[in-house]
Amino acid sequence: MHVIDLRSDTVTLPTEEMRKAMAEAEVGDDQSREDPTVNKLEELAAEIIGKEAALFVPSGVMGNLCAMLVHCERGQEVIMGDQSHILWYESGSGAALGGLVYRSVHNGRFGELNPSEVEETIRPERLGFPRTGLVCLENTHNRCGGTVLNLQQIEGIVDVAHRHNVPVHMDGARIFNAAIYLGVPAKELAKPVDSIEFCLSKGLSAPVGSIVAGSEGFVREARRVRKLLGGAMRQSGVIAAAGIVALEKMIDRLHEDHVNARKIAEGIVDLDGIRLDLETVQTNIVAFDLVSPDWTPPKLISELESRGLRISSYGGRKMRIVTHYGISDDEYDQAIKIFRDVLTGTYVSYPQH
Ligand SMILES: *Cc1c(COP(=O)(O)O)cnc(C)c1O
Repeated sequence: MHVIDLRSDTVTLPTEEMRKAMAEAEVGDDQSREDPTVNKLEELAAEIIGKEAALFVPSGVMGNLCAMLVHCERGQEVIMGDQSHILWYESGSGAALGGLVYRSVHNGRFGELNPSEVEETIRPERLGFPRTGLVCLENTHNRCGGTVLNLQQIEGIVDVAHRHNVPVHMDGARIFNAAIYLGVPAKELAKPVDSIEFCLSKGLSAPVGSIVAGSEGFVREARRVRKLLGGAMRQSGVIAAAGIVALEKMIDRLHEDHVNARKIAEGIVDLDGIRLDLETVQTNIVAFDLVSPDWTPPKLISELESRGLRISSYGGRKMRIVTHYGISDDEYDQAIKIFRDVLTGTYVSYPQH
């Protein structure tokens, strides 16, 4: 059976052009900075995101972790949204490996943080208090449904943090989706923050890798931390080559994913069994709550899967459909039909005898 996989944009496969670039990549030992393809990717990434330097890391989690470990000392507190990816889905990495304390503040409906709440959460100097080492933002915001922070919202938090000499890191796994939504270059959104991580392996369709970027000094330290974490690689130009294609060719098409997410959201929003806030469908994620008592997320997932549609769960009753490269208009239409049929009971699967 043909399966339409809308669990995540991480399921995207490398394009033909990426495969070719990977096969032909000029490589060397990156731990001696001798891989010309990695060097080129890092220069290009720094240029596109508007920072002095950039570092190629194996994953987004490692990018965020490098940033936390560079900005903070052991025992320091990191302020982040209560729905943030770092808090929910990164194995508590900063706590486990950096001795950091995570302190959450309320994430608004669009993933935004409230500047006065952040200001109240930053620790004043006092003998028993941990020191605040970092504030993290997330753009687009995954658990809030791919929602976008605009420049004012970013600056609002950065102003507060910097006033207290606290740096700001942006988990920008999908920063280009945010930039496309706002119609501004990604570097404008990255400008106020001290460091940023973004993924090449999601909507941009590269097979592996993320970038963490910031000042020259920041990246020098991040390079040390990457080594410490076991993330320093050798002839990684083979994978960096796909990252270059991702940055050169795959950013502008992201708007198609946004159009398709809208189409899906509008195609299912009226269904009784789900609660979907259309205003939060800004980029390539359609997040919704499964409210029908007749369904549990595992049951819905397996029922859809038996009809050829894969979606995912955030945990609890919160679920997610993600649009991405490689899915045709017909497949999106088909996905809406399968989803509607299953949820309205038009389709019922019986045990096979
Ligand atoms: C995917 C994601 C990450 C982590 O990326 P990996 O490559 O899976 O480690 C970090 N933050 C957000 C918001 C993400 O969506």
